[in-house]
Amino acid sequence: MSEAFENLLRETREFPPPAEFAANANVTAEAYDAAAADRLAFWEQQARRLDWATEWDQVLDWSGAPFAKWFVGGRLNVAYNCLDRHVEAGLGDRVAIHWEGEPGDTRTLTYADLHRLTCQAANALTDLGVTAGDRVAIYLPMIPEAAVAMLACARIGATHSVVFGGFSADALASRIADASAKVVITADGGYRRGKPSALKPTVDEAVKRSPSVEHVLVVRRTGQDVSFAGTDHWWHETVETASPEHTAQPFDAEHPLFILYTSGTTAKPKGILHTSGGYLTQTAYTAHAVFDLKPATDVYWCTADIGWVTGHSYIVYGPLANGATQVMYEGTPDTPHKGRFWEIVDKYQVSILYTAPTLIRTMMKWGDDIPAGYDLSSLRLLGSVGEPINPEAWMWYREHVGHDALPVVDTWWQTETGSMMISPLPGVTAAKPGSAMTPLPGIVADVVDDQGQSVPNGGGGYLVLREPWPSMLRTIWGDDARFVDTYWSRFEGMYFAGDGAKKDADGHIWLLGRVDDVMLVSGHNISTTEVESALVSHPSVAEAAVVGATDPTTGQAIVAFTIPRGTVDTDGAAGEALISELRDHVARTLGPIAKPRQIMLVPELPKTRSGKIMRRLLRDVAEHRTLGDVTTLQDSSVMDLIASGMGGGKSDED
Ligand code: ATP
Ligand code: MG
Repeated sequence: MSEAFENLLRETREFPPPAEFAANANVTAEAYDAAAADRLAFWEQQARRLDWATEWDQVLDWSGAPFAKWFVGGRLNVAYNCLDRHVEAGLGDRVAIHWEGEPGDTRTLTYADLHRLTCQAANALTDLGVTAGDRVAIYLPMIPEAAVAMLACARIGATHSVVFGGFSADALASRIADASAKVVITADGGYRRGKPSALKPTVDEAVKRSPSVEHVLVVRRTGQDVSFAGTDHWWHETVETASPEHTAQPFDAEHPLFILYTSGTTAKPKGILHTSGGYLTQTAYTAHAVFDLKPATDVYWCTADIGWVTGHSYIVYGPLANGATQVMYEGTPDTPHKGRFWEIVDKYQVSILYTAPTLIRTMMKWGDDIPAGYDLSSLRLLGSVGEPINPEAWMWYREHVGHDALPVVDTWWQTETGSMMISPLPGVTAAKPGSAMTPLPGIVADVVDDQGQSVPNGGGGYLVLREPWPSMLRTIWGDDARFVDTYWSRFEGMYFAGDGAKKDADGHIWLLGRVDDVMLVSGHNISTTEVESALVSHPSVAEAAVVGATDPTTGQAIVAFTIPRGTVDTDGAAGEALISELRDHVARTLGPIAKPRQIMLVPELPKTRSGKIMRRLLRDVAEHRTLGDVTTLQDSSVMDLIASGMGGGKSDED
């Protein structure tokens, strides 16, 4: 791309933190000054939130860049930091997890319970021959055993690779093979959309093709029939009968903690490797700072699946390192009814909610009356992650979930970054709807042009990280060359994240979507995010995805796929009228250059299993190509629906 990105969207709303929130916030503006004065000393201070068996002798060794070592020489046990130290401090009776199954069954696990189960699982894994450095694949539904399995691996120094429970046997087998996993931890099944959904048959099929796997540990969740082979063991017969005594050994700060595959929005997933000390330092600090976690009083809920990085960092490691109490929910947001999330907030008096734009937009589509039917007054902070949040979705979240008063933190980060990187601090920042605002203390992010030069305020370009950070990925598992090539070769000495961004007049950062998705229309680089946000700002639109399709006159033309809100009439002439109104609305909001050539009204959008829109597939549809790799797609029938509508009917060209 030769030009900077166009900066089309203007947003003037701004919401300072409520005075009382600011007065009691965990972190104040001083943190920015401290980190700016001495970044490494700042991180060193954050590392002291953890219990180390041996202190480090060097905060950062960057001599082998881009291969980083943080807290060199330090030793700690990650599971000890998440469990034992809280129990030792007398907090064993504090609830760690309020678990809610989809059918409505519940479990309450205190820190003492979670500690005991983790020790038992550590002993059982050791009995199965797992030792430090071995890889263990985890393929589980959202049940407490998922957290226990991860913590047990961490406890004995085994590297876990969690594979999202919705993936196919192929996807599971390729991830097992990539990491040469020795053990797989799974369940008979889990509950999904009101019925038991089997997992074990998928594991059986994957394991048949996986020579590295020696044992499979099976949690009984649904009671479905399963076939059992010689390598299979029931969790309740091994883990739950194992000794609850286990002394955690410390490991090197750079000991591998987990491998996690990216969600595959743009390409073949990459096995991202994270290590121990730096990762836990930054996840613990950001949970404290950005969620303003008050472990003694807050009830925190992150709606992500444990199979994604958000579940790793902000269900397991960050909250537990802080001794937080959290809700964990097994199922889907509309089972048995569309108010399920709000019912859970109400029931457990959730005070901090962390969710994704895709969910917020789905809730917008379902209607304002649904959250209005529940008591959400326990909430005091709202967070978002996973995609750019459109200003209107942000406003809806604040208004209809946050009683028009709560701070909303839009947190930008990636599987690769391990922890949050760019986000408001809820007690400090006057947040603008749709902006991730500023890099967190200790993080040096920038937006640069083609040549790697910092763009001025008002300009757009490539989002980069200029300095290493504690929870950064250490490599792509088994492929150092791909690591260097993917992240460190575009700009000299900088990590390139793959995302486009702009700085507004005040220097605040707005994410513009993936640079691969940017559209080049008549010589202008237009971001997908801005056009989508313009569409979502129309009262009839719940969700939108736009792509650039080859066009004989403009180079690329904007094609928009739009989901109307629940109550909107889209039949025949009403649909045609809405389409032309939307095209004009975009032109009015962003300028004529951004007017979509074509708008399709669709019932759904193609999303990854983590809920992100997969624009590359829409591009295939818009350019009448055969679809690319669909293995990370949530529901492939969506593509048939969209492709069948593409020929005619609900489109509009002039
Ligand atoms: P792959 O790298 O395989 O294509 P992925 O990038 O979707 O998959 P993740 O690591 O889960 O996998 O997602 C990180 C990406 O999600 C970011 O690079 C960014 O594009 C997007 N993202 C996450 N949070 C935000 C946010 N707050 N605002 C804008 N974009 C976000
Ligand atoms: Mg990515």
